[in-house]
Amino acid sequence: MSPTPSSPIRLPMRTPRLLILAAGVGVAFCALASDRSGDHASSAHGAASAQEEPKVIAKDSLKRQLAAGKAEAKAGKTDGKSEAGAASVPSGKPEPTSVSMAELRDLIDQKIAEVRAKQAAAPAVKVINRSPKPRVAAVSPQIKQTMAAHGAAAVPGLPAGHDLHWEYTGAAGPQSWGQLKPEFKTCSSGTRQSPIDIRDGIKVQLEPIQFDYRPTPFRVIDNGHTVQVNLDAGNNITVSGRRYELVQFHFHRPSEERINGRQYEMVAHLVHKDAQGRLAVIAVLLDQGKEHPMVQLVWNSLPLEKSIEQASPVMLDMNLMLPEQRQYYTYMGSLTTPPCTEGVLWLVMKQPATLSPYQASVFSRLYANNARPVQSASGRMIKEGQ
Ligand SMILES: [Zn+2]
Repeated sequence: MSPTPSSPIRLPMRTPRLLILAAGVGVAFCALASDRSGDHASSAHGAASAQEEPKVIAKDSLKRQLAAGKAEAKAGKTDGKSEAGAASVPSGKPEPTSVSMAELRDLIDQKIAEVRAKQAAAPAVKVINRSPKPRVAAVSPQIKQTMAAHGAAAVPGLPAGHDLHWEYTGAAGPQSWGQLKPEFKTCSSGTRQSPIDIRDGIKVQLEPIQFDYRPTPFRVIDNGHTVQVNLDAGNNITVSGRRYELVQFHFHRPSEERINGRQYEMVAHLVHKDAQGRLAVIAVLLDQGKEHPMVQLVWNSLPLEKSIEQASPVMLDMNLMLPEQRQYYTYMGSLTTPPCTEGVLWLVMKQPATLSPYQASVFSRLYANNARPVQSASGRMIKEGQ
């Protein structure tokens, strides 16, 4: 947000000021510039009435002056009370032959007196010296640095590189990730990148994933790229004889994965790591539908500030995060965020879970779009469980 530029003088104030200047009176400026408090409404009204009436009254004034006779006018006996509210010099076209210079001077003196009298009665015309509001940067560099530091520290089990110099849009967006840092090079040079549009999978009998999940304490963090849940130890899966531990899960909107071209409302990525540091990520697609009780538990513990973990008072049962049916697609891919490390085993659940439109809207207020575009499958083997 940037402060809206504002004119130093409001419209209703312009009229008296111009009129006064036209009358050649210097005192007007002092009156306008004075900072006396008063009734703004009445002064505005005064200005408005002066604006509405001037032409007709000015003509009448001239006629009366003429009728009063030259002698009287020259003697300067005009009492200055004639036209109440006529705070204006004549703007009509009086015949030049019938008004002498002396008469004009008298008239001008009279107007000056009227204007002064008005200013004395309603001096509340204020020139407000509006100093612009201080600019507030959306996110200060210091905060960004802090966020980056916390973000990097708050992704246990993931390779370093989760810092905030990359974004989902603009100059630091996905097309540029590979050029942002040498350690992000794989984002552009890799040939087994994620996400992909999953199609043309080879239908086979895949062995079921063995889930060993149990209710676990958890902490929620907004790391600047997504909402992430860090879990205590104790949740494991076994795939192809290899055991992986669940380290964290997080969300993307819309889903990064596509199934035959279709993108879903959101996706949850459950990041697992084995004893050798190899990663296996389970993707649970989230379609709009019934409320998701586990997602709600996470939203309930959304931290008020970025990069600060918010511990939940309750436990999370990750079995309830999964869809009922456990068939899945599988392929070898990468992290979908810098440094885009490859060698990640992807397990994409075929059946989506659901979350309510409200639950999706909560996330979209934080991250309306935090999905990396699909990458080329490059002829990779995709297996589809039956
Ligand atoms: Zn992810």
